[in-house]
Formats: sequence, C-alpha cells, structure tokens
Amino acid sequence: MNKGFVYLVGAGPGDPKLITIKGLECIKKADCIVYDRLVNPKILTYARSDTELIYAGKSPGCHILKQGEINTILIKKALEGKIVTRLKGGDPFVFGRGGEEVEKLVEYRIPYEIIPGITAGIAVPAYAGIPVTHRNYNSTLAFVTGNEDPNKEDSSIDWTKLATGVSTLVFYMGMRNLPMIVEKLITNGRSPKTPIALIRWGTRPEQETLVATLNTIVKKVEEVQFRNPAIIIVGEVVKLRDKMKWFEQKPLFGKRIVVTRSKDQASTLAEAIENLGGESWEFPTIDIQAPDDFAPMDAAIANLRDYQWLIFTSVNGVKKFFQRLRYHQKDVRELFGVKLCAIGPKTRKALESEGLICDYVPEEYRTEAIVKWLETQNIRGKKVLLVRANIARRLLSDTLKKLGAMITNVVAYKTVMGAANVEQLRQMLKNKAIHVITFTSSSTVRNFVEMLGLENYKELLQGVMIASIGPVTSDTIRSFGLKVDVEATEYTVNGLVEVIKNKIISKNRLTLKRGKY
Ligand code: SAH
Repeated sequence: MNKGFVYLVGAGPGDPKLITIKGLECIKKADCIVYDRLVNPKILTYARSDTELIYAGKSPGCHILKQGEINTILIKKALEGKIVTRLKGGDPFVFGRGGEEVEKLVEYRIPYEIIPGITAGIAVPAYAGIPVTHRNYNSTLAFVTGNEDPNKEDSSIDWTKLATGVSTLVFYMGMRNLPMIVEKLITNGRSPKTPIALIRWGTRPEQETLVATLNTIVKKVEEVQFRNPAIIIVGEVVKLRDKMKWFEQKPLFGKRIVVTRSKDQASTLAEAIENLGGESWEFPTIDIQAPDDFAPMDAAIANLRDYQWLIFTSVNGVKKFFQRLRYHQKDVRELFGVKLCAIGPKTRKALESEGLICDYVPEEYRTEAIVKWLETQNIRGKKVLLVRANIARRLLSDTLKKLGAMITNVVAYKTVMGAANVEQLRQMLKNKAIHVITFTSSSTVRNFVEMLGLENYKELLQGVMIASIGPVTSDTIRSFGLKVDVEATEYTVNGLVEVIKNKIISKNRLTLKRGKY
C-alpha cells in the first residue's frame, strides 16, 4: 500500500514571506494541511483549492486538539496515501513538539521530511531591531521555555547557571510566568538593571514591543496589559533597538490592507503595500474568464489590417487578445500599420511586453482623457477596434460613434465574481483586524459589497479606510453609501498606495500630537 508522506514544515514567525521556498512547495503539493494557531492563515491561501485544511489549535467549540489526537490525524491521513503537510509556527523543533510527531511517524514507518523554519526567538527580536547576538555585547545565547513554573521542585532549568552564565536569554511562552522568571534571574545574580524586551505578535501588523529593565518590567506589563504570544529577550543587546528598529518605522507598519482585484492582478498592489511595511490581504472579488462567445474577436483578428486604431482599456484585454491571436497561429505582424492606444501605463507595459510600442497613452489614465483626445483627432470614417471586458462603460464607444468612427467592440474576457474566502474576511472585519480596503475598479466595489452581504456591509466596514484608484471607482463606492477616504491622484496602483501612505502618515502625526502614546 502507498503510505503517503508527511512533511513537517516550519511556517516561520508570522510574516507570511518568512517561510522557506521548500516549505512553500510542501504547502502547494499537500493533499492535507494540519496547522497550528501561530501559523499566519495567509500562508494557507497558497494551498490548492482541493487541499483539506485541518486546524490543530483551538476549534470553534474551544477544544484544543491534544498532541495524541494530532499524531493520530497525521498517521491516519498518511496511511490513506496522502501527502500531509504539518505546518507549525516558527521552527518545528524549537518548542514545537515536532520531535514527538516524528517519533510517531517513525513508529508507523511513515516516510517524512523536516523543513526547518525561522524561529520566533530570532526573527521576532530582529523585527523589533534587536540582534540576538552582537560581538560587542554577547557571545552566548540561550533559548529557554518560559512555560515551566520556575518554582517547581524538579525544574529542568538550572537558574543559577542560566542567570549569569549566558548573556542573551530568549524565553518562549513566558508571559504567564514573567514575574517568576524575572525574580529567578535577579535572585540568582543577574543585575536588576539588565535590559529586557517583550515583543508580541512579532513580524505581523499587530507587533508591539515593550522595553524595560528586569526590575521595572513586571509593573510596566501590568500597566499596559501586555499579553501573549510574546518573545521575551533579556540582555545588553536589547539596547541596540534604539538604534536599529526598522519594521515599526515603515509607513504602512501595523496596517492590514485588503486587495480586491483579481488573483492574477493582485501581486503588483500587494508588493507595493508590503514594500512599505503593510500586510496585504488578498480578497479577489473578480475572476477573469474567457468570453461567452469568441466569434466577434475571431472576426476582428481575421481582418486586423482593416483597422486604423486598436484601443486597449486594460492589461487583461491585452493579454487575452494576444492569447487569441496566438491561438490562431498569428503574431504581431498582423498589426502592421495599425495604431495602438492604451488607457494607462500598465496597459502600455503589457503591450510593450508583446513587443509593441504605443502610439498614444493619455496623460490622465482614464476613459474621459481618451475621449478628450479623440475629439481632437480626425477620426471620422476611421475603423477602430475596441478590445474590452464583457462589462464596460459605454462612454468610449459612444464617443467614437458620435465622432463618426466605424467602431467594432470585441469582448476579450469576462469578469465574474471571485472565489475569495468571505467568512474569513467577515471575521477579520469584526475583529477590527482590517485597516484599509482598496478598490481598483467599479466592479471590484460592486462584487465586494455583494460578497460581503447587502444587509450588513456598512456595519462591517465601519472604521475601515476606503481607498479608491480614481473618480469613477469613487462614484461607485459612494453609490453604495460608503465614504471614500482617499482617492489616488495618479490613477495607478502606485498612485493608490501613495495616497494611502500619506493619509496614514498624517493620521499618525495627529495621534502623536494628541499624545496618545
Ligand atoms: N516553534 C515555534 C515556537 C512555538 S512555542 C518557533 O520556533 O517559533 C510558542 C511561543 O513562541 C509563543 O508563546 C511565543 O513565546 C513565541 N512566538 C511564536 N510566534 C511569535 C510571534 N509572532 N511573536 C511573538 N512571539 C511568538
């Protein structure tokens, strides 16, 4: 019998990009993923849609799967012949009970591999600007579990040696026992003035850091009600944070920003957000599919040289048009003598990657600008091919008609509702875990509202910043009774991120002025 395979994978500390390439491959090929509470759910979006996802943390009934039950699931699924990816926060062997799971796999002779991950004890301090070692400060480093009651008679931790024998101490799971840990360190000889930092939800938008000394930290924790999950780091290296902190300084730090455009278009916006320290949350409201009928586009492709102008209003239009051209065993030579117009820089880029140079791109990236320009052109009697989506504004084609052009409209692709995880987003909105929502077209707005539910979308969006790529999209947002908080001045993805950034910077400045921190 085929026994299946288990990959024991470290998912990293939280920032979804801190997973290894190998770990990501294991997610993509898994038939079944068993994951823990500290694994960022965003990582799971890389799994195939038919992959079974099993949560091994707290379930809705608040029952935590016991280690034995997790082992049983792994064995059972593997014995069914499945590829099982066991996904754990950080590294599977650093206070992750990975060893116990492997022992079971060995017992049942199930083949496995271990894919190490970036452990929280190193990455979380790094994201707070604290290097766990620095040659001017320390030469020893210890990872310690803080889960063990330090006053336990048979404690496996030798506090006398730990307190003075190791320069940097990193405690996992230590929040509950913090007062005792601090006391043990001091009574065993560590200076009460030793710097200590607590970092919770490190590498994520929720990251918070609290710095003090051993003798002041407990009081500070009580004052601000600092909670789990947190890494505790003790030692002189903590002082470097003042100089080295970086993540929290990024303009979009702390913001989780929803990207509503289609999956294959989301990456440029997601990247722009992440470069500025925000977390992008992909919620594709649109899916791009083949048109219902290829006949009009095929007819146009058969007679391309008849046209004087070819107008593209989106990147998808360009992609789908050229795909169809190739399908007919044709290439750009068919476009000899035809002038090309693109609505904006991205569409122009898409044409350039097909080896074509645009004859016209409006300065302002919207249909109205093309219309204005058309009015200055002698377009009467000219044959114009307009390549577009199934739903599109009529403005362009109406204007062309009015100006006497002979216009052919072809539908190159159809946009349908995307397959985003609505329940998950609703929950995150309820938990106030979403800070900004971006809309890059009117259809993203319409679909988003419909997916969220007409009854309570307004309530769910309360307090969330709404960002629009341009005036047309903004009108659609307003038509649903929502307020546009920011609108891009340049109607591009970069323009959109720019205005979000500026708004957040000015908001942060205001909060600082009011002395909230
Ligand atoms: N195997 C994991 C550790 C699991 S133990 C690893 O290698 O990172 C769980 C503890 O890890 C938590 O109690 C907390 O102390 C720490 N931890 C994990 N992720 C964290 C994060 N993003 N921020 C702060 N602490 C984290």
